[in-house]
Amino acid sequence: MEGENEQNRDPQESSEYNSSHRLFMQAMLSHRILEESRAEEIYDNVCVKTNVDKNDFSDFIAVINKEINDVDLALRRSVDQYNSVAIIALVNTKSDEVAKLATTYTPNELAYFKRILELIITADNEAYSISSIAAIREGPKLKSPISQRESQELLAKLVNDQWLKKRRDGYYVLHMRSIIELQDYLKETFEGDVHECLMCMEMVTIGERCSQERCSVRLHLHCAAGYFPEDDNGAAIKCPTCSTSWKRSNKFGGANTSRRSNGHSQTANESEDG
Ligand SMILES: [Zn+2]
Ligand SMILES: [Zn+2]
Repeated sequence: MEGENEQNRDPQESSEYNSSHRLFMQAMLSHRILEESRAEEIYDNVCVKTNVDKNDFSDFIAVINKEINDVDLALRRSVDQYNSVAIIALVNTKSDEVAKLATTYTPNELAYFKRILELIITADNEAYSISSIAAIREGPKLKSPISQRESQELLAKLVNDQWLKKRRDGYYVLHMRSIIELQDYLKETFEGDVHECLMCMEMVTIGERCSQERCSVRLHLHCAAGYFPEDDNGAAIKCPTCSTSWKRSNKFGGANTSRRSNGHSQTANESEDG
């Protein structure tokens, strides 16, 4: 009698695309980006609902990726550069991502979004952000102008669709969805203004930078935290590329204004806030 229940389940089923994968994909299609811990919770619920044995989460994701590869989709793991939390995102793997946006945005809306992307990426001093006021004023300047009110509504839509993120100080920055999905477009279009983190080679718009102006080394906050020893007091650490002494306080992309570091005193950049 013991062990009889075990035989009701096909040990093969977890390695094939089944109802559990399908249900999980529905959740990913509606959320697009989830914290990994939340995604694992959803996986737990999905297993209960579909009565499928729980598998290793990575293996589960791998089975889905094998299945959705044909339709140019993939589940990709990353880290949210704004809060250093592990995330999982559903991404299109074709490079002409911006063109695909044409299915949900009018050509004019798309022109506006591209302009906002440009202003964020090319912002002075690698701020990688744009103020609400500046963003709203861009609408009427388009070739086919839209009103400030329409610009405001469109910005809300772009935030809701997870392309942009509105910071507490009212500035717009790139949402992780844009970082992950539009990375190729942004790199091609704004070459020189887009930086890659030296540690993980992913695009970075908030983090630490080398004090040597000609050096291109940029690091995500979480990548820098993993690379440099804690409690260094800034004395002995050096840029991994040019060996200039590295100042942990030398941040960009609003890292000084949007988060408070414990213990370390802040730089003068705080005046940007509010
Ligand atoms: Zn990194
Ligand atoms: Zn350097």
